[in-house]
Amino acid sequence: MSDRAGTRDLRACASRLASCVVVAVACTAMRVESRGLAADEVAGGGWRAGVAVVRITPERPLPMAGYAGRKEPAEGTEQDLFAKAIALDDGAGGRTVWITLDLIGVTAELREAVARRVEEAVGLAPAALLINASHTHCGPEYVHADAADYRRFLEDALVELADRAIAELAPATVAFGSARAAFAMNRRTPTRERFLNHPNPSGPVDHAVPVLGVRDAQGGLRGLVFGYACHNTTMGFRRWLGDYAGYAQRYLEEDHPGVTALFMMGCGGDQNPYPRSELKYAERHGRTLATAVEAAIEVNQNPPRHQRVVSGAIRTALETIELPFTDTLRPPHRYPVQVIRLGDAVLLVALGMEATVDYALRIKTEFVTPDGPAVWVAGYSNDYPGYVPSRRVLLEGGYEAESRPWDPGVEERIIAAVHRLADRTRSPTGTAASR
Ligand SMILES: [Zn+2]
Repeated sequence: MSDRAGTRDLRACASRLASCVVVAVACTAMRVESRGLAADEVAGGGWRAGVAVVRITPERPLPMAGYAGRKEPAEGTEQDLFAKAIALDDGAGGRTVWITLDLIGVTAELREAVARRVEEAVGLAPAALLINASHTHCGPEYVHADAADYRRFLEDALVELADRAIAELAPATVAFGSARAAFAMNRRTPTRERFLNHPNPSGPVDHAVPVLGVRDAQGGLRGLVFGYACHNTTMGFRRWLGDYAGYAQRYLEEDHPGVTALFMMGCGGDQNPYPRSELKYAERHGRTLATAVEAAIEVNQNPPRHQRVVSGAIRTALETIELPFTDTLRPPHRYPVQVIRLGDAVLLVALGMEATVDYALRIKTEFVTPDGPAVWVAGYSNDYPGYVPSRRVLLEGGYEAESRPWDPGVEERIIAAVHRLADRTRSPTGTAASR
């Protein structure tokens, strides 16, 4: 479908779903600044960034995603849901677009459709497009048969969103920092019989809060991308809610006017926020996470301290690997692994489905070096639903291990792919080779 047709569809859809308003964020000053530069100055170096936002709160009571026992549709909105995009451009031909969603997950079908249409519309290589979902359990079950119109709206909105973020590209300083937050707890508790889905304060966690801060040419903070590895399951009621990640984004945007905050879900497949089940805890976890983001990026410092300023080339690689099952009659699952390198500063690994925390811990163990890039591991990217447990979790059994009959060798296949793609993004041909 052409870009023009997509825009028309979006408008038609927007008239049906009154909340579907695309908002280009606030980069007027940045855009004016970019007009003042000669074309060769922009092309000769210097990073650019652009952000865009679209509200994706359903207007009608769609089925809700995440809890099989909650059969009734939503009955209202506690907090709007958003899709957000950030485009990063290294000024020398390297570009990447990250889309983050206050939704349960990113299905392969949605990912494929949006990647294909964004490539057609603006020439962005699929390997350069990352789509991540927060895994809020208070969003729509958009794959449901009753949600076909919402699904069409969502696809069109995300294509438009990527296009908008690229259109907003303007000179920017990008810096990476990290902090920690401790409300995520492992939820696999061993008993004599089996592993229970129950808080386990002794189980493995990934409490890292990686943050990318984007400043405009005047030094003003315009974008914050931040990650955390924890289910967005403080709440399971029948109202639309971004959960702790929704509050963290809202607080950062309220406290820093002009900032767009984007949440990137980590490998939180076996991690839950505690305490749970009261709205005040979703707010508190959101405040805790927002405060960690501020610590990581020192939002009021310019020039930044304790941060890595990102420069050099953006290189991206994406591979769809086959993950086998113990049931040999079942066809292997096609699983996306993506690596995005931001110069010498950041190596972002984005895994599909609900990856358990062992993946993030192992990848950081194998890739972090004293002089190397910061390593950021996202899960819930480009593919959903289903858990993808580590070898340890598969052998132990329990809730996360039982969703599919995975072969225990899936972890080695995924880690091998991460190594291949990380190697590929070390060379200038990385992006081209992975298209
Ligand atoms: Zn989950």
